[in-house]
Amino acid sequence: MSWLEGIHYQGRQWGNRALDRHLRVGVTGLSGAGKTAFITSLVHQLTLGDQPAHLPFFSVVAQQRYLGGRLASNQPLSLPRFPYEHNLRHLQQRPAAWPPSTTGWSQLNLTLRYKPAHGVRARLQSHSELNLELIDYPGEWLLDLPMLQQDYQAWSHFCWALFAQPHREALSRVFAERLRQADLNNLAELELQQLTDAYSALLQEFRAHAGTYLHQPGRLLVPGELAGAPMLQLFPLLPEQLSAPSPLLQKLTEHYNSYCDYVVKPFYKQHFARLDRQVVLVDCLSALNAGEAAMQELQQALRLIMQSFRYGPASVVARVFKPQIHKVLFAASKADHVTPEQHKALTLLLQQLLQQPIKHSHYAAAQSEAMALAAIRASQAGYIEQGGQKQPCIRGFELGAAQPVTLFPGDVPSTLPTAELFKTHPFQFPALAPSTLDVQQPLPHVRMDHALEFLLGDKLR
Ligand code: GDP
Repeated sequence: MSWLEGIHYQGRQWGNRALDRHLRVGVTGLSGAGKTAFITSLVHQLTLGDQPAHLPFFSVVAQQRYLGGRLASNQPLSLPRFPYEHNLRHLQQRPAAWPPSTTGWSQLNLTLRYKPAHGVRARLQSHSELNLELIDYPGEWLLDLPMLQQDYQAWSHFCWALFAQPHREALSRVFAERLRQADLNNLAELELQQLTDAYSALLQEFRAHAGTYLHQPGRLLVPGELAGAPMLQLFPLLPEQLSAPSPLLQKLTEHYNSYCDYVVKPFYKQHFARLDRQVVLVDCLSALNAGEAAMQELQQALRLIMQSFRYGPASVVARVFKPQIHKVLFAASKADHVTPEQHKALTLLLQQLLQQPIKHSHYAAAQSEAMALAAIRASQAGYIEQGGQKQPCIRGFELGAAQPVTLFPGDVPSTLPTAELFKTHPFQFPALAPSTLDVQQPLPHVRMDHALEFLLGDKLR
């Protein structure tokens, strides 16, 4: 974008913002939570026209005031574009495939056209427009916020306390040994990079094999545009290596401070601060499958993520930037992996993970809501007869399977399961493949209309 185009673009945004016709909605969640599927579905629902039967709880559609949505002509040229068309292509394949997951910040702008419900605009205008900016970014980046509240030494202690937990201890032993062998007073640049790579590999291993969620620094796991930047040469030294000054301790402290100043704070100031609304997706079912430690760590990670929405005057967020997110939707994703009567329990479980009754509560400055949804429904819900009784079930293709299965995936606990329950009752919710997309039909979903109503309903009145 040239500087002049940039000014025009900004000018239009400010004008629209002043007229309340502009909305920036962020979509986040930890890796694999379902951000890509959510945005792809949301855009598909909004651009395929008004389908009252398909989105019954989305008031602008139900009241037949929705005139349609299209991808905006003013996509910001300096930011990565959310690969919507590419994602659809994956869903249109035979057999259909899930699109590739989020790896960084990306954006897609839409223009939504609707008939105003009442007021002066309804009398004077045939239609109104809402400019919607959808922003996709990794939830891992929000986990960096607490780093601003501690120094490198405190952070290293925090990391090694975390790595000492039973589900992480075995994997972290090899990296601890490598650190023990490092010469803190004379470490070559190459070795520093090798240790960084080993730490990054450890974070990947944690995520893949130990069902962990809390990874810092977030950019080492999901670097986005910062891949290879020197300040990402950052890992926690062992507690015993922190007591005496050393060149390596000094260097890592500098990298830590640069990371906070040049990565974490700018992310909040330049990107996060400009969001109006936020969706936080949580894959509770995979955490249940991974076991008790995973569930506890997910809870801990969510607690840290929620600090980003706590705006009290003394909060770390308020010290870094002026927040303006007024609505936050917490959604338990992939609800189509369980039978519909389990959705209530899934929502309650999410609320418990968030440790507060979200419904009807005002979460500091932001209004929030929790729900269970499936952005792209991959199963059909129904009943089977068993012993003369009707049993709920779902039918779909497990990932990689050639034949469909009909199954009852199990009950979702509505509260955090006890250690005992995890031992006696391992959870095994399936992972399903998407059905091939019919281009003329909006993507099948569960409760995307509720999500749309919460996120956009008031702006389309
Ligand atoms: P991201 O890392 O947050 O962008 O996650 P994705 O959107 O790529 O989702 C990760 C995986 O979760 C996908 O590849 C699918 O296997 C699964 N998934 C995501 N959303 C849904 C959904 O609505 N229904 C089902 N059945 N699976 C989903």
